[in-house]
Amino acid sequence: MYNGLTVESDKLKEECGVFGVYGKEGDGLARTTYYGLYALQHRGQESAGIAVARDGKIMHHKQMGLVSEVFDDVLLEELEGSIACGHVRYSTVGDSHVINAQPLVVKYRNGSLALAHNGNLVNAVHLRGQLEQEGVIFQTSVDSEVIANLVARKDKGDILEAVKETMNCIRGAYALIIMTSARLIGVRDPNGIRPLSLGIKDGRYMLSSESCAFDTVGAKLIRDIEPGEMVVIDGDGLQSFYSDGPRANRLCVFEFIYFGRPDSVMGGKNIYMSRRRAGANLFKEHPADADIVISVPDSGTAAAIGYSEASGIPFVEGLVKNRYVGRTFIQPKQRQREIGVALKLNVLEDMVKGKRVVMVDDSIIRGTTSRNLVRMLKNAGAVEVHFRVSSPPVQHPCYFGIDTPDRENLVGANFTVEEIRDKIEADSLGYLSLEGLIEAVGDCREYCHACFSGNYPI
Ligand code: SF4
Repeated sequence: MYNGLTVESDKLKEECGVFGVYGKEGDGLARTTYYGLYALQHRGQESAGIAVARDGKIMHHKQMGLVSEVFDDVLLEELEGSIACGHVRYSTVGDSHVINAQPLVVKYRNGSLALAHNGNLVNAVHLRGQLEQEGVIFQTSVDSEVIANLVARKDKGDILEAVKETMNCIRGAYALIIMTSARLIGVRDPNGIRPLSLGIKDGRYMLSSESCAFDTVGAKLIRDIEPGEMVVIDGDGLQSFYSDGPRANRLCVFEFIYFGRPDSVMGGKNIYMSRRRAGANLFKEHPADADIVISVPDSGTAAAIGYSEASGIPFVEGLVKNRYVGRTFIQPKQRQREIGVALKLNVLEDMVKGKRVVMVDDSIIRGTTSRNLVRMLKNAGAVEVHFRVSSPPVQHPCYFGIDTPDRENLVGANFTVEEIRDKIEADSLGYLSLEGLIEAVGDCREYCHACFSGNYPI
């Protein structure tokens, strides 16, 4: 066994996960939200929060840390209410500080609201400047507060009209859960860049970034909230409204490559199966003469199995991940990223020694981890290492809620495939084409693939 290294430090980071549920007091909705957030923990590990509506008021608790660290039994009992919403966060915009944790809860002339946001606005700076000119004081550095402010200012007694008007002002990627004392509202931007789905359990509607949270709480996925759709859940049931102007289906394709949990369904597609098909397409595009296929666990595993099935080369475990890592990435500062508070990987020497190895990963961002992995395999006696990547080179930054390194640190933006092969010291390197990826994910959606293609939906 060789001592390990971090893998998550060399991946793009999802910003947030949101969850909400409408029911009645005594249903334990804060607890349901806790388990929902627990299932969405992979989408953000810095802070967690839950807000509940009770007796016309909104109460909340949020703190830095993992969901299991932020809440305990006593807190969940205290947060009893008839509607609940929650948020897990990894910061891309705004400092890593509890003031920026969500749900944001604001009081204004027509009541209170809680807002949980996944995504980034591209016109947040402009809107914030305008609001500041008008005397608005901001408490946080997150663009979600701009949205909360706009909704509060536009609410002249009809919150739904206020949300619709706000949708006409804000531009960018947003999956929102807005909770008032009487309603749970789910909103997705007109391009549908960030995911949001609708579920149900015992007649209670729920909203979640990913369907895996519904499975966790025993609910069923009904459907995705559509791009530009606002669903309103209250005592009258569920109503749906649509934004003015054009709508498109540009769901982030990286959800299928890395961000989404493999057991989630987005756009009617199971993420695990999409990754597996991507692996099969990867073999068709970049076959290799080899003895074994291994994956960079866990995110490369489904694609590696697909590659193995398509090629007939046996899939084996060559790298083992430490499963008991506990708290990671509480403060996503460079130092923490480097010193490896994250997951560790070790090589199973007996499996790779004397073998020609195909190693499959979902993406290469900086390339440093890839080179270390190749070195580890060679040190363990692998005679050849053929690196295969189940997505195209990441060449462009993301402006829609994903933490991308600066362009100079994106290896795919600065080097040719052959130069990258040389840098990571692999015997060969093959990336899946964009066409191969889209084919693997399936259906006729356009998807956002701007970090590969530079073709930004906004
Ligand atoms: S640019 Fe890439 S990471 Fe960002 S939303 Fe589009 S596909 Fe997803």
